[in-house]
Amino acid sequence: MLMKNNLAKDLRKILPKENVLLELEERYAYSQDATNLKEIKSIADAVVFVESIEEIQAIVKVANKHRTPIICRGAGTNVVGACSVEHGGIILNFSKMNKILEINRQNMTARVQAGVIVGELQKQVEKFGLYYPPDPSNLAVSTIGGSIAQSSGGAKTFKYGSTKDYVIDMKVVMANGEVLQTGANTIKNATGYNLGSLFIGSEGTLGIVVEATLKLIPKPETQRVLMAYFDEVEDSVRAVDSIIEQRIYPTTIDFMDKNAIQTVEKFYPTGLLTDKESALVIEVDGFSKAVEYQSEIIKNILKSSGASAIQCSTNEEEYNKIWTARRSSMGACAKLKPNVTTDDVIVPRGNLAKLVLGIREICTRYELDVCMVGHVGDGSVHPQIPIDYRNDDEYKRYKLAKSEIYNLTAKLGGILSGEHGIGSLKRDYIHMVVNPLALDYMRTIKKIFDPNNILNPYKIF
Ligand SMILES: Cc1cc2nc3c(=O)[nH]c(=O)nc-3n(C[C@H](O)[C@H](O)[C@H](O)COP(=O)(O)OP(=O)(O)OC[C@H]3O[C@@H](n4cnc5c(N)ncnc54)[C@H](O)[C@@H]3O)c2cc1C
Repeated sequence: MLMKNNLAKDLRKILPKENVLLELEERYAYSQDATNLKEIKSIADAVVFVESIEEIQAIVKVANKHRTPIICRGAGTNVVGACSVEHGGIILNFSKMNKILEINRQNMTARVQAGVIVGELQKQVEKFGLYYPPDPSNLAVSTIGGSIAQSSGGAKTFKYGSTKDYVIDMKVVMANGEVLQTGANTIKNATGYNLGSLFIGSEGTLGIVVEATLKLIPKPETQRVLMAYFDEVEDSVRAVDSIIEQRIYPTTIDFMDKNAIQTVEKFYPTGLLTDKESALVIEVDGFSKAVEYQSEIIKNILKSSGASAIQCSTNEEEYNKIWTARRSSMGACAKLKPNVTTDDVIVPRGNLAKLVLGIREICTRYELDVCMVGHVGDGSVHPQIPIDYRNDDEYKRYKLAKSEIYNLTAKLGGILSGEHGIGSLKRDYIHMVVNPLALDYMRTIKKIFDPNNILNPYKIF
């Protein structure tokens, strides 16, 4: 208790009173994130809102003095317990460090503070005819710092890559308070180790990202989305191969299985065809003539690959309708039971049909519902499992099914996360896909960067 009082006093010396939250209710609210965890293990000792690099450096000193964890928090929307509290600590809230510091049209870069909202950055750069493609589907709230720390991706990853492909430089406050610059304001950089890559996907365990310089590209003139239905899952995956064989590079090739289609239509009716086994959502972008041309070729390929119905957006309303249906699957699934869990296993695309059918078989065997959506283009699947945590038997079956899904993913040459990260939720399984030597090197890097183990300790492994 004395330690906690002293910690609070030390934090109040550094920060304005209104930026330090100490009430139990406040600390409780920030001790969890968007992960549907069964229980909260521990409550934060303090929640602080940071406004400058100097403040963060001072907080790091305090954390070292009290040997207390620092858990960075963007919007808290990660779904793997990456900022859930397990050993008390200080929540570092970035919502007040949300300035876009520079948009440079000629260099095609943006320099931003870590708390900038991804969707806001996209809106601002588009005013300059530029484009920031990484698009976690909750980009209306998630932050640049959070998406760097989780190496977030999205529907457009297939064509444009994910967050990691757009970060060219960062300022990072290290565990000893030093400020490290990881790169340069250049599009290419072959000058020494790529230190930045260590922080991307590190889930706040190696350093505190305070500023990032991001690469931008020219904004495509227009886009169009097609939705195609299939009676066999395998046909939908084969259709994707045929599209790529024709040298067409869609922005997005997403997937919904029958349960996802039916559940979305049940709660958010938009006229989806509920008797179909699967649907593909395919987006193309570029100049309007090219988009027109590609859409026609794709439609023909889909038909000859066995698509039994095809819808194609011809205006913004139709475009939004298809995307709303695809993006509503998690919300719809959440209506089936008091809790819903999601995941993001990924395999080489050639094994995707096996993964989807295997997950369905596992869930059927354990008597669990599952709605599957995913990004076929890059081989990733989000199995969304509605569950009632109060039902111990169901929870036991769910845990067994999860373990089998990870096993299957590993057998198919896949990994546990393509975009959500590992956090606390999947750390017990990481050994299934990362070899022991690689894990040892990761632990060694963690010790070198953070010898007192204060940065989001015990996450990932
Ligand atoms: C409805 C929904 C849809 C989603 N869709 C997608 C999707 O399409 N693609 C995808 O990839 N993810 C998705 N996610 C997962 C998640 O939203 C993303 O990973 C998101 O980018 C996290 O951003 P955030 O600001 O909420 O980070 P938070 O959840 O606040 O933090 C995530 C991690 O980053 C660390 N962190 C935060 N800020 C910093 C910083 N400045 N320095 C160092 N570490 C930091 C935290 O400690 C934590 O470990 C979705 C989540 C939800 C709830």
